[in-house]
Amino acid sequence: MCGIVGYIGYREAYPIVLKGLQRLEYRGYDSAGIALYNEKELKVSKTKGKVADLKKKMEQEVDTSGTLGMGHTRWATHGVPNDVNSHPHVSNSGDLVIIHNGIIENYETLKKELTARGYVFHSDTDTEVLVNLIEDVIKKEKVKLGKAVQIALTQTVGAYAIAVFDKKKPNEIVVARLGSPLAIGVGKDEYFIASDASPFIEFTNNAIYLEDGEMAVVRRDKGVKVRKIKDDSLVDPYIQELQLNLEQIEKNNFDHFMLKEIYEQPSAITDTYRGRLLADEGIIRMAGVDDNLERFLNAKRILIVACGTSWHAGLVAEYIFEDLARIPVEVEYASEFRYRNPIINPDDVVIAISQSGETADTMAAIKLAKEKGAFVFGVCNVVGSSISRETHAGAYTHAGPEIGVASTKAFTTQITVLTLIALKLAKAKGSISNTDFHMHLQELETIPQKIEVALESNAHIKEVAFKYKDARNCLYLGRGFNFPVALEGALKLKEISYIHAEGYPAAEMKHGPIALIDEEMPVVVIATRKGHYEKVVSNIQEIKSRQGKIIGIVTQGDTSVRDLADHVIEIPDTIESLTPLLTTIPLQLLSYHIAVMLGKNVDQPRNLAKSVTVE
Ligand code: GLU
Repeated sequence: MCGIVGYIGYREAYPIVLKGLQRLEYRGYDSAGIALYNEKELKVSKTKGKVADLKKKMEQEVDTSGTLGMGHTRWATHGVPNDVNSHPHVSNSGDLVIIHNGIIENYETLKKELTARGYVFHSDTDTEVLVNLIEDVIKKEKVKLGKAVQIALTQTVGAYAIAVFDKKKPNEIVVARLGSPLAIGVGKDEYFIASDASPFIEFTNNAIYLEDGEMAVVRRDKGVKVRKIKDDSLVDPYIQELQLNLEQIEKNNFDHFMLKEIYEQPSAITDTYRGRLLADEGIIRMAGVDDNLERFLNAKRILIVACGTSWHAGLVAEYIFEDLARIPVEVEYASEFRYRNPIINPDDVVIAISQSGETADTMAAIKLAKEKGAFVFGVCNVVGSSISRETHAGAYTHAGPEIGVASTKAFTTQITVLTLIALKLAKAKGSISNTDFHMHLQELETIPQKIEVALESNAHIKEVAFKYKDARNCLYLGRGFNFPVALEGALKLKEISYIHAEGYPAAEMKHGPIALIDEEMPVVVIATRKGHYEKVVSNIQEIKSRQGKIIGIVTQGDTSVRDLADHVIEIPDTIESLTPLLTTIPLQLLSYHIAVMLGKNVDQPRNLAKSVTVE
């Protein structure tokens, strides 16, 4: 994971690289560093900590001039986060500088060989091995930097997005990718390099996204030359016009990106179904499904592969697909799926869900499914991402950039896309009545406005958060469509407040977790009027009898749960399969407020990073 940024052109590189790192900090934030070249000398500054710490250090200690610069914000894989292990790394001669996102898996073997030839290593990283390997190739083969990078990479096993320059040839940066994303912003006489387009959006709308196995030499004066690493063939790069704007990647008036993104859900979901959900006409249009309808309809089963919050969206989809479209669904953690020799048949449809579209385990699961002949459909948020390119077809969620590490709007927009697909298939199969189909479309259209209503409970949720901020543990219970929401609620609390939380199907409580309940234990119960309501009310009784503290997520106007619970948070009524889109909202706000009250870094929780591009 980690973010990389580079600039070569006529402007001062430092402010561009620094700002770029701040925008990419969601990808990793345990240490940061910048290298600058100003025609006379190379300066490399790095530090443990955040980009803000780096900024302080650099502005006190070094001259930040130079029109060539590269920066890195790290999520350590090899070596603890400290100053020495931070990137950029410099080769033994002091000439080559590298930044790297990914893992060089055979770095130990390479390191031994290089050490035997006299190379000295200062850090514990795999990256420092790579930069010295490139240097070694230059010396041995007497080749230029681009060729040396190409030869060195053919000796590596692993994943990378790298940028390298040689201070003796300061008119070019060489970049390459395999498994980690890399975009090149193309300006006039200036070029930008970054893990995603956000660092250069105010400078250019034109970007080249390198494909896996490609490298490029980016020259200040002569432009970009892309080629395949393996066979050296030249590639005619496709210059994509970006749709991103600055406002989407700034916090505006919110204290945190997470809160902004929670509040963006009504508009994000509207964007997700715009042009797809034509409620008045009774039509759902989705090109990726329309063009492959037979594959979907002939599927013996649907396999969903994902990780983290996306896996929870997959679980919600399992309930929705089976209920509406009557197609058997299995949901798998991508990381398990890829390594357990799964049975995949050519008539399976595999749906891969990933916000970033770069999740390494999900990517590997896709490749495996394709090898076995399955049709693979992607649900991603980031346009042009690796997964969106690797899958046979797909649907974007169009949620806009999600910067907060704890996923919020990505989750609800993924559910929206998956609901649209399920409804479309149900209609085509005839497993849903016309009346029910129309009712679902009409109701889905009202969800954004109902989320607005759910958000009005924010102040009340903050009061509830204050009461439970010091809890050591918390249980989340739900049934049916809302069981995965309970899992997601628990995950949200864990990842940003570091309070231990578990999600359970409400009825499973009596098979174990009920032993945990005492007067100290808050239990969040999703108890909407639809979906086994009476059964959930009985589960609440069982908690109450053991003095647990009950926070009920209920339908507006509910009285039964109100009588039993310590607190209730209301959401508007809707049809059962759509309740997850509403019940999720108070759980997001609850974990947000608790984390803020505990003084945690909500947008950048410890040990995490936004897109998990390593295994
Ligand atoms: N493997 C490199 C390191 O540990 C890069 C990790 C990353 O992609 O964040 O420094």
